[in-house]
Amino acid sequence: MARTLDAATRKALEERLRFYGELGLTEFYRRPVDPSLIVECESEPIDDAVISIAPHTVAEVVEEPRPETSVQEDQTIPPRKPFPAAPQVAAAVPPADRVSALRLIREDVGDCTRCALHTGRTKIVFGDGSAQARLMFVGEGPGADEDAQGIPFVGRAGQLLNNMIAAMGLKREEVYIANVVMCRPPGNRTPEPAEANTCSQFLFRQIDVVRPEVLVALGATAATYLLGQRQPLAGLRGRVHGFRETKLIVTYHPAFLLRDPRQKKEAWADLQIAMHELGLKAPPRA
Ligand code: SF4
Repeated sequence: MARTLDAATRKALEERLRFYGELGLTEFYRRPVDPSLIVECESEPIDDAVISIAPHTVAEVVEEPRPETSVQEDQTIPPRKPFPAAPQVAAAVPPADRVSALRLIREDVGDCTRCALHTGRTKIVFGDGSAQARLMFVGEGPGADEDAQGIPFVGRAGQLLNNMIAAMGLKREEVYIANVVMCRPPGNRTPEPAEANTCSQFLFRQIDVVRPEVLVALGATAATYLLGQRQPLAGLRGRVHGFRETKLIVTYHPAFLLRDPRQKKEAWADLQIAMHELGLKAPPRA
């Protein structure tokens, strides 16, 4: 007889899947099981063949042959179709005009209904910070605090990001912070490809205006849409990539670091790469 997942178990399972997603582990194959042991969900059924949490698996995963193996046994993610390329880089905006250029992008966003995420949002969370920042952080999307305030990274993860920025010897108002999507996904789920591809066009325009010297992708979703391909996060960290004309460093999302503080050391190593590229030295510890 089939069992039913209670809400707490389902939430814990979703959080664990998201946790693995931050690590770049994005597909989970279920071994054949006794039908009597199959667990049913209270709401949407889970696909029998694959539980996919990555932002890019819709319609793409099904084309792959699926080995009957657990992700622990097979860490290799097969190649995927390329994602839509970021639009051509726009002409440089003079520093004095960047604030007004960003304002124009915000006006273009308007009361946006271009993707399904608009239905659940309270506020659109546009990028925030210096229009002339040398360093820009890109996260995944707003959470509850951001949705309420309309400002990126203001919750607990935002506090940690502030600490990370301070550790680099910078002030938050000296950097620019944005997300792949500007509306909060329901239940803080990972944005769907259609949502991320639609909204990231505004992200790319902000990057074109600010022209940071270094971009830091916070987490797998930001890395995926900035690089235009999906790879395990572990394989992307620790080196310098490129987003068009900008150096790109990939590290963990602060929300992930809150769940697993042991990885802060790794994140700090990534930020030191960014600091090296910017010619920054860490301030002495107080
Ligand atoms: S997430 Fe972006 S594209 Fe989608 S409705 Fe919000 S602002 Fe528009």
